[in-house]
Amino acid sequence: KASGAYSFPLLIKHILQYSDVLEPDRQIVYRDQVSYSYAELKKRVARLANVLSSLGLSGGETVAVCDYDSHRYLEGFFGIPMTGNVLHTINWRLSSAQILYTINHAEDVVIITHVDFLPLLTQLAPQFTSVKKIIVASEGQPIPETPLTIAGEYEELLAAASDQFHFPDFDEEAVATTFYTTGTTGSPKGVYFTHRQLVLHTLAVALSFMSVDKACSFNNSAVYMPLTPFFHVHAWGFPYVATLLGIKQVLVGRFEPEMTLKLFVTHKPTISHCVPTILQMFVGHPAAKHVDLSRWKVIIGGAALPSALCKAALERGVDIVAGYGMSETCPFLTTAYLGPEDRAVEDLSEQIRMRIRTGSPTVFVDLRVVDEDMRDVPADDETMGEIVVRSPWLTQGYYREPELSEQLWRGGYLHTGDVATMNERGSIKIADRIKDVIKTGGEWVSSIDLENFIGTHPGVAEVAVVGIPDAKWGERPFALVVLKQGQEVAAEDIRAHLQPLVDRGEISKWAVPDSIQFAEAIPKTSVGKIDKKTIRGRLTLS
Ligand code: ADP
Repeated sequence: KASGAYSFPLLIKHILQYSDVLEPDRQIVYRDQVSYSYAELKKRVARLANVLSSLGLSGGETVAVCDYDSHRYLEGFFGIPMTGNVLHTINWRLSSAQILYTINHAEDVVIITHVDFLPLLTQLAPQFTSVKKIIVASEGQPIPETPLTIAGEYEELLAAASDQFHFPDFDEEAVATTFYTTGTTGSPKGVYFTHRQLVLHTLAVALSFMSVDKACSFNNSAVYMPLTPFFHVHAWGFPYVATLLGIKQVLVGRFEPEMTLKLFVTHKPTISHCVPTILQMFVGHPAAKHVDLSRWKVIIGGAALPSALCKAALERGVDIVAGYGMSETCPFLTTAYLGPEDRAVEDLSEQIRMRIRTGSPTVFVDLRVVDEDMRDVPADDETMGEIVVRSPWLTQGYYREPELSEQLWRGGYLHTGDVATMNERGSIKIADRIKDVIKTGGEWVSSIDLENFIGTHPGVAEVAVVGIPDAKWGERPFALVVLKQGQEVAAEDIRAHLQPLVDRGEISKWAVPDSIQFAEAIPKTSVGKIDKKTIRGRLTLS
């Protein structure tokens, strides 16, 4: 082991350090309310650090943020870990019982909250076990009565604090962030990431997108508009990337289609990321019909990119690709890679095929697709196995859950619970989550594939497929379909739409659902993904 005169810890403060050097006036925008420069961001982070110190937070404590995607949240992404404290990003879309669980489990001492969430926190207050103080971002609204101890209003506290703070060096292995994954059973599980992990993740994601991308959407003149909640795996780590590169950021706050479209038209973002549902709004919303989307790159993650959505986006000129990751993995693992020749391909269906692939591992991701004995499955893009990974930025385990952590990391690899195939170039295609694969008559049917095939029916707006128990076949596929407005489609039409695929051998006849129901909407999770657990639950109840 080399030892010498110095060591340089990889700390989050270094991500912020040079953000204002090249373009000090480059703006951070929050809705139509706030706009300030990177130079100002650094001062505000120092002010926040002074506020936290004045509350007695000297490091190692958990400070939660409960807010929409805002400039305050961005300040918390830096100021909280840079003072040696741990940022807990509260998922306010969980049930109140789950929110309470996460606050107590993470041992939050201070919560910085948007005033909208104060009534909820007030309701939970009697059951708090560690929370001492609340900072409220009132945005000019009156602060409602509460028995909670209010340390002050966010802007007022910042205004009264010094804009100078000496951020000390400390161990790069110190935990910087924590948040909770909801999973399918039991309580939410806490994952956590160190300074070193976040710095390496930031560098790797920046590098990946610079190499994946001909137009280099993270270049100096890029405009970044996150469309994933900041609480969802720190908005997939992109705010750190954007800040490292000092590019303009447009933060949309509480997600409202009209405001988001207005910001889009004003600031002309060049790069965003979101789950499929949100992009659907851009390509499907009547108010977005005449908005020019042709300078926009969108990374779709959190769920498979449906081919119908990919097609609709490409037709509007969006440079769309899939990315893959999970809460446990910080999150980045793979992204669909399109080389110059790939981009030149004119055939639309071929473009779609390439862009919806789960893709190739990001640098420093050791990714395998394995069978039950941890043997690599053949790279033939047909044989399915579980994705297992190693990389410098995966959670070490679930906070205070030793058994689950051991299970997660069995065999020295993090087990994703996702089933995929791999091609000879090492690019993967997720077939399903292990628990969502439909096992029917001894065959495995990918619910994602089926959703894609059904989704290409011209009358279908959205579709979810789950397996339902069947006495004879083990499971049978069931499809829940939302039709486009004014369309009349029967279950028989959908089955007829699938028949040519069966005839061509692309899907087996067992994959054709005998049960197809039509609904007004598809249940979604707290982060806007198809909620298969709820769909299955409703079916077993009915
Ligand atoms: P949750 O499990 O609550 O949805 P996460 O946000 O951590 O929480 O979700 C991670 C999961 O989302 C992955 O394990 C995978 O099943 C799914 N996922 C993410 N990206 C993709 C993708 N590109 N294709 C298919 N599935 C994806």
